[in-house]
Amino acid sequence: MKHSPRVQRLIDTLTCLPGVGPRSAQRMAYHLLERNRDGGRLLAAAMADAMDGVQQCQRCRNFAEEALCSVCADPRRQARQVCVVASPADVLAIEQSGEYHGHYFVLMGQLSPLDGLGPRQLGLDVLEQRLGEGEIDELILATSTTVEGEATAHYIHDMVEGTTVSLSRIAQGVPMGGDLEYVDGATLAHAFRGRRPL
Ligand SMILES: [Zn+2]
Repeated sequence: MKHSPRVQRLIDTLTCLPGVGPRSAQRMAYHLLERNRDGGRLLAAAMADAMDGVQQCQRCRNFAEEALCSVCADPRRQARQVCVVASPADVLAIEQSGEYHGHYFVLMGQLSPLDGLGPRQLGLDVLEQRLGEGEIDELILATSTTVEGEATAHYIHDMVEGTTVSLSRIAQGVPMGGDLEYVDGATLAHAFRGRRPL
């Protein structure tokens, strides 16, 4: 038996979600149709509203509902200090630490030519332009320690070289409250390289 056209379209559409294959999509579609049509309608409305109403901040590329996001629009933040992160989720994590009071630059990915993510897709040309215009004194890299994160960090390092911008990378290492014996070798090696005087 085949699904009716509308059900099939709903299932096909749901597979655009990350990690959702045809089987999960079918389960979701049936759940909404069998048991939660109001939830399904709310979901559809919230999705349409977010897709139309959420844009990227003109300065940092983070999600924003105005031209500038709440960080870039806040005059108390230090605009000349910029932390480069891969995703809006990273901004949220750093904000929750309460430790950072500068601005951000959100790449929305990391360099990965095979996935079609080059410097332009990540807005690195825009960042380079801002560096050239003397808007930034300090750049802090918070990209990941994956191959893509390292490639991105190298690219930005080359970009900054020869300018007066101070460049640093957040320390990577042993988690708080973590026992050394459970930390993997690569992380421990990073922690050693990133040691600082007491
Ligand atoms: Zn912003």
